Amino acid sequence: MPKSKAAAGKKKTKKSASKLSQKLAPSAKPKRRLFTGIKTLFTLDRAFRKAARRVTADDLDRIDGAAFVSENGRIVWVGKEKDLPREFKNAIKSEDLQGAVVLPAFVESHTHLIYAGNRAAEFERRNQGESYQSIAKSGGGILATLIPTREASEKELTAIGQERAERFLKQGVSTIEVKSGYALTAEGEMKMLRAAGAIRRARIVRTFLGAHAIPKEFKSAEAYIDYLLEEALPQLKKEGLACRADIFIEQGYFSKELGKKYLSRFREEGFDLAVHADQLSRCGGAELAVELKARSAEHLIQINDEDIRKLSASEVTCVLLPTADLYMNCAYPPARKLIDQGARVALATDLNPGTSPSSDVALVGVLARIYMKMSLPETIVAYTLGGAYALGLEKELGSISKGKLADFVVLEGEMEELFLEAGRQPVARLYREGERLL
Ligand SMILES: [Zn+2]
Repeated sequence: MPKSKAAAGKKKTKKSASKLSQKLAPSAKPKRRLFTGIKTLFTLDRAFRKAARRVTADDLDRIDGAAFVSENGRIVWVGKEKDLPREFKNAIKSEDLQGAVVLPAFVESHTHLIYAGNRAAEFERRNQGESYQSIAKSGGGILATLIPTREASEKELTAIGQERAERFLKQGVSTIEVKSGYALTAEGEMKMLRAAGAIRRARIVRTFLGAHAIPKEFKSAEAYIDYLLEEALPQLKKEGLACRADIFIEQGYFSKELGKKYLSRFREEGFDLAVHADQLSRCGGAELAVELKARSAEHLIQINDEDIRKLSASEVTCVLLPTADLYMNCAYPPARKLIDQGARVALATDLNPGTSPSSDVALVGVLARIYMKMSLPETIVAYTLGGAYALGLEKELGSISKGKLADFVVLEGEMEELFLEAGRQPVARLYREGERLL
């Protein structure tokens, strides 16, 4: 083979392999497993075939008396236990799930999991009537997180992140998206992403959010964006530290125009895109997400009917974060309008020290059900398949379908008890790629 052709082939293989490993960090060993004794299995396969749009209770795809088989961490057969093919009955490691209800593991598609310090005092001051501006002036707000996160070592950040990841695992979450964005220097952001990459057990999907705020060291948003593209982007690529890029489009942060410049560059380099869009004011974030074919647009409190129409007609997944709206004491996003017009929706905690210091998955669903009028099947699909779509992992996660990874939860109650009791998801066990984590 001519040298140039061989080199080109090698390069291509390396690129696709590194992208997959960033996304999934596969832990599968060659193993075949049979899971039986399932009272009810909700596969969500029908929701998957509908691309998680306009889902109803039927789309949870219920199988009573179910079983399924995984091989090397992937589902190879799903059905009624009595229909199990003979080839899977013998010479297989079998687990009896003892009459439990089973459904896909949850996907947490928006967190700021890695940060040091806390903003507890600020929360108290805000509730006692002090304005956000006044708190920010006296060193509060994002700066209050920036300093301790810059000072923390990578090892310390991993330890903090691991502890928080364990809280998600306990609630049946196997996959967690983690954003950078609390160092706001090229090296500090890399440190955050390396720290996230060292978290064990949970599957971590890393997102570069260097454009979270404008650090004091820069005179303008433009200058900071140029710095990120020149200094951070090459390092990110070199080390393969993230596969997604995100930006906060908001007044006083980054404009739609600047967002377009920044995200377009990341897209050229093969990154998936996400946008913190229209949270505090309508600034064109949702429009930009549609225009650039981003995987997701997040928050979406201030969108209007035109934005809703565009989002619904697009492939963008709308990631809704009602715990942040609770803490911000603001309106909730128009989930009903989005869903009714055919938009795909995900739900997540937005865990962060300022506006959503909570990793309570059940609470997210409770708020979505009460204030956003989402049905329980819509809430379940949003926290599984919707999250998988937001992360570009819909072919791997979010439903118990042939060919997908065997990530699932075994409940200690009925499906109807999910997203009911804040602080508690009735999850007895969690499996990732057929291996028990919990
Ligand atoms: Zn966020």
